[in-house]
Formats: sequence, structure tokens, C-alpha cells
Amino acid sequence: MGFSDTFHFLHPVSRDRNRKKVINDTSGNCESPQLRRSLAPGASPGRQPILDALPDPFLLLVPERDGEGRITDFVCAYANGPACVLHGRTQSRMLGSHLLDLLPPLHGHGQFDRCVRAFEAGSTIDVEVPGCGDGHGPPGTLRIFPANGLLCCLWRGATEPTPLQRQWLELDRRYHLLASHVFDLVIEVDADHRILWVSASVEALLGWPAPTLLGRPAMAFVHPDDRGRALRAGLNLQERGRLGSELRIRRADDSWCWMGGSVHPAAEGNGSAWLLSLRDVHDVVTGLAVRSVALARIRTALERQAGTGSTLAVLSIGVDGLTPVNDALTHAGGDQLLAFLAARIVREVGDPDQVGRGTGDEFIVLLSDLTSMAEAASLAERILRACRAAITIGGQPIDPTVSIGIATSAAGALPDELLRDASLAMRQAKARGRNCFALLDDALATEAHTRLLFAAEIQRGLVMEEFAAWFMPIVSFATGEVTGYEALARWVRPDGLEVPPVEFLPCAERRGLIVRIDQLVLRQALAALSRLPEGLTMAVNVSAASLAQPDHPQLVAEALEAAGVSPDRLHLEVTETALLSVTERIRQQMEQLAGRGIRWYVDDFGTGYSSISHLRDLPIAGLKLDRSFTCAMRAKDTKSLRLSQALVGVAEGLELDTVAEGVETIEEARLLTSQGWLRGQGWLYGKAAPLEP
Ligand code: C2E
Ligand code: CA
Ligand code: CA
Repeated sequence: MGFSDTFHFLHPVSRDRNRKKVINDTSGNCESPQLRRSLAPGASPGRQPILDALPDPFLLLVPERDGEGRITDFVCAYANGPACVLHGRTQSRMLGSHLLDLLPPLHGHGQFDRCVRAFEAGSTIDVEVPGCGDGHGPPGTLRIFPANGLLCCLWRGATEPTPLQRQWLELDRRYHLLASHVFDLVIEVDADHRILWVSASVEALLGWPAPTLLGRPAMAFVHPDDRGRALRAGLNLQERGRLGSELRIRRADDSWCWMGGSVHPAAEGNGSAWLLSLRDVHDVVTGLAVRSVALARIRTALERQAGTGSTLAVLSIGVDGLTPVNDALTHAGGDQLLAFLAARIVREVGDPDQVGRGTGDEFIVLLSDLTSMAEAASLAERILRACRAAITIGGQPIDPTVSIGIATSAAGALPDELLRDASLAMRQAKARGRNCFALLDDALATEAHTRLLFAAEIQRGLVMEEFAAWFMPIVSFATGEVTGYEALARWVRPDGLEVPPVEFLPCAERRGLIVRIDQLVLRQALAALSRLPEGLTMAVNVSAASLAQPDHPQLVAEALEAAGVSPDRLHLEVTETALLSVTERIRQQMEQLAGRGIRWYVDDFGTGYSSISHLRDLPIAGLKLDRSFTCAMRAKDTKSLRLSQALVGVAEGLELDTVAEGVETIEEARLLTSQGWLRGQGWLYGKAAPLEP
């Protein structure tokens, strides 16, 4: 539609001529999605840039009627930039506003009734408004006319915008440019989760014209099984950033699109509560869901399977010999092969949502509600056969084959474990000569089963109070006196077996049991500290999971209070690796505890990936040199010696306390002392042991 058509549409004089045109365009219904779409902000180009370019404020409003069909007010469906400036509202806040709220002066002297009459009669009137905008602005003339079931309001002779208003207009223009061209889906919702605004990209991504979504409950577009997670992400807004997992969003054709992204609290003041930014999580090469989505689907299927007694299988499909294809035909050729195979696998499986892309040359297939293993095996056979058909890529004939691993779920399995088991089996299939499938064999299955049993065993141990804190002395190099202890978790099983942390911590971490262990050790350590002389300190390890608990500061404060010890006697140790995932919220929690007097130490310093900036940005009071450095000294490794010398220099520069770990001999203690390390711990001074009361 050209400029003149657009202008005619707006111009009351040519209304009749144009009505025909509009009827052809939009079926003449003011609720017509096309019309609403073409008028809405952020919509497709066409009329809207022209409306936006009008120098005078301009509004389009939809009549609102009571039960008897009488018009009671008009609701704003479009406002151009100058109208937003006039009313001092953002475009999204203008939408849905009532005319009588926008222009209270219309209440007086039957002005509103005149507008209604003009609307119903299809005539044009001019209304003098004593104060434009909120009623306090300068007087102006409002030209009111109906067009295609909508009420148009055009101000004439409104005053020139001020420089500030101009600036605002410019910002608004830029914002709209951005909003119309973003590739991701951006949605703004209010506190009731109604959609206030959505980027125009929603049409390309999901098939919904943006204006048809305004005002609708956002949750109606989220898959019922994912609503809980979506709500939690919204409630947990301090965790601003990535959504924990992908969500299924409804397309206009009623299918589901897996989308991942982030959620943020929206700027206050315009009624919006969150801003969601979502993107399609499909692999560009194959069009399949990416690995994280495949994992999310396995998780959902496992949750659904729990207690039903049905079986679930995961197939890991590896492309045989992708590297030579990549070498011969470049990566583009390799990508083409992957895309071909993806299509073949999807065809055999029957549902693209059951197929995902793994890492590298791997595909993932999820089979739920299996009645027998034979079913999974027969699908694997069919996929093997389908993938075997020859393909020509870049003029070269290729005979592709794949190898398949199958893992079935045991009760309580974790999605990534299941996937790992399937990958293990796939590697077995490759080892057997490729182009075949393998079931997770007995040995592997036993290992997987053992992992599950072990987790259950840890849980039992926790319930039976078999875990305890043992204590290792920390000594001042200068005086040789014990300055405090480090609490270390020990698991003493009923058969007397002492299980060291290296054996149970990885499993406890994966199963989310580590937080309970940390809490238990903290409580016992503080109880022990309360019985120790005032001058002594207690160091306690904090896992990344505990550190991320939103109530971590509170739990520590409660434990201190329960034991009745002063916070400055408590040292909390966090590994460099855990510091990598410190968010702004976690940093604040650390500050909160540091503010109470608790001292933070970086554990295993020199082995992780932490950057020196952590020492500057986080409230760190001290460093613990990793035991591997002391071991290296023993071996007279000069590089490590120089490194530990440099590290103690960094600590001195930042006025941090220093503790060297793993001191086993007098010579090591001397060497560390000469380098400047202040304190040490290790077998020279004592192994971890229970503290006798
Ligand atoms: P860490 O915090 O670096 O603790 C020091 C580890 O080195 C302890 O092993 C200790 O027994 C050992 N060690 C200390 N001095 C020497 C020495 O001179 N020679 C040798 N060979 N070893 C020495 P442990 O108790 O097995 O703990 C291992 C790791 O487990 C700890 O490393 C810590 O990262 C973790 N851990 C222990 N307790 C807890 C806990 O309550 N919570 C958390 N999150 N992690 C814990
Ligand atoms: Ca430690
Ligand atoms: Ca350490």
C-alpha cells in the first residue's frame, strides 16, 4: 500500500472512497487481525511508518460497549509517537488506555456524547479540548472521525515538542526500530502475566500476528507441563538471566516450539513485571532440537514415567566416519551429511520432537512408553537401514553408516546419566565394527546401577547420621602454634568403613545432596568451635551448590547463633571453580556474610580458572595454596616453586591471609615460610580427626 492510499485511509474526507479499499483489504471488521496488525506498533511495514511519521498526535481507538450495546468509552489500539509524548506514556502503556482517562476534559459539556454520535453517524467533528494530554496541557483542537469501525483522533495545532520531547521521540523511534527487527522473541508481561507487548518477530517464529496476542494470558501459550517451571523462573527474579530449562511455546498452528532464553524484571512504573527473551533452540544444521532441549525432554519423560512402570529408552546415534567426510568435502559437506541423516532418522522415528542433536556427530532419540526392549531394537534396526542408503554430496558418492547405543531407564535415573549410558553403548557399537547397535551391556548397566545405589546409600547415611565433621589443625609458620582447624566431611559407615570425600562428594553433588552435607558439617564445626579457646578459628568448606542457595547467608547466621560463636571466628572456603559461577546475587550474599565479620577464603588456589579479578571484586580475605604446589616442591619442581612465590606476592599485595596446604615435612614448612606463606596445614601438623570434647 502506497503513501497516498495510507493517507486517504486516514483522511476523513476521502473516507467513503477509501472504505471500499479497506473492506477489500481487511474484510471490514474492526476486530480483523490483519487490520489490527497493520495498525499496531512494531507491526509489519506498510501503514504504520506513515502513521508514526505524522507530526501531530494521532490515536486509533476501539469502541467499548455495555451489555446493551451502548458505547461507554473507546480503548486505544494505536498511538503514534507524538501522542505518546503528549500523554507522557510509553506506547505499550498507551495501548489499552481509555479515551476518557486519556482526555478527562471530554467528560464535560456533552463532548463525549458528541464523539459517540459522530462515530455512529460516520461524520467528522472538531472538539475543542481546554487542556490537551492529561488536561493540564495547552488547549488544542481534536479532529474526530470514524474509519472502518475504529475511532480516529487527530490533534491539530498542538504545540511544538520541546527539546526533551524531541529526545524522547528519538529514543522511541530507535526503540521501535529495534523492536521490529529483533530476531529473538521478546515479550513483556504485566503482574498478572498478561502480554503487554511482543516483538514483531513472533509472527515469523510462531505464526502469531503480534497484535492478536496483546492482553492475552502469557501462560496460555506455554505447554501445560512447562507452566510450573515458567512460573518459578518469573518468581525467582533475583536469579535474573537464563531460564533454567527450555519451554514449549504454542505456535499458531497448535504445534509446540521449544524455546530457551532469559527472563528479567521489567523496568518499574509502566505496569510491566517481566521481560522474556526467547529463541528457537533448534540446531541450524539439522533443524533438530539442541542437546539441552533433548535433555529437557528426557527429564520431562522421566518425570512422567515415574511410578507408571513403563520403560523409556534413549538412543545415541553416532555418524560413522564423519571426520574423513569433513576432510574431503569441507565442513559444509559434513553439515550436509548431518542434515541428510537427521531427516532420515526423523522419518523413521515419526516425530521430530523425539529427535535431538547431541554433541559433534551424535543424534539423540527419545522413546517413551516402550512395551519391550525389542521395540527399541527394531527401531534401531530401521534407523541403521535408512541411514545406509547412498548419498551424493558435492558430486561425491558417500555410503554413510551410523552406530547406535541404547540405554533404558532405571527408576530414578538422571537425564544426563541416561544419555551418557546411551553414548557409552554407542561407543561399544563403534568398537564392534560400526553400522550396528549395542545395548548398554551388563557391566555398564551394573555400573549405572551402582551409581544409583550409591546415591541411595548416601541418602541413607545422612538419615542415619553417619556423616560427621573431622578436624585438621592449621598452624602459624611463625610460632608453630595451632591457630584453628578446617572441618572436613567424613562418612563412617556402620561396618566401620571410613569413606573419604573424594568418593562421595561427586555423587552427592550430582544428586543435590551436597547442600545437606555442607549444612551438617557447618553445624558440627561451629558446635566444636564453641568449645575451643576464643582465639581459634574454624574453616568450613562451601560447595558451589550451597553458595548458590538464596538463603545461604541466613543458614550460616542461624548456625552461628545456635552455636553462640562470634562470626569473625568462622572462615568459609570456596574453590576457585565455584567462584566461576558467582552471579551478582551470590556476590551480594557473600558481601552480606563478610559484612557480619565472616572471612572468605579461596580454596585450592592456583589450580582452577579463577581470575585475579575475583580477588578484587569479591570480599576475599585469604588464599589457600593448593596441596599440589607443596607436592611439587617436594619434587623440587622449580616452575611450581616460582609460581607459589608469585602467588604469595599477589596475596601480600592485596593484603590477604595465606595458608599453604599439604605440608608433610619440616623442609616444606621452611621453604613456604621463606616464601612468605603465613600459615600451613598438613600431615606434619596432624591429620583430620574427630575433636575430643
Ligand atoms: P580441601 O578443602 O582442599 O581439604 C584438604 C584435603 O587435603 C583434605 O582431604 C585433607 O585431608 C587433605 N590433606 C591435608 N593435608 C594433607 C597432606 O599433608 N597430605 C595429603 N596427602 N593430604 C592432605 P579430604 O578430607 O579427603 O577432603 C578432600 C576434599 O573434599 C576437600 O579438599 C574439600 O574440597 C572437600 N570437602 C571436604 N569436606 C567437605 C565439606 O564439608 N563440604 C564440601 N563442600 N566439601 C568438602
Ligand atoms: Ca578446604
Ligand atoms: Ca584445598
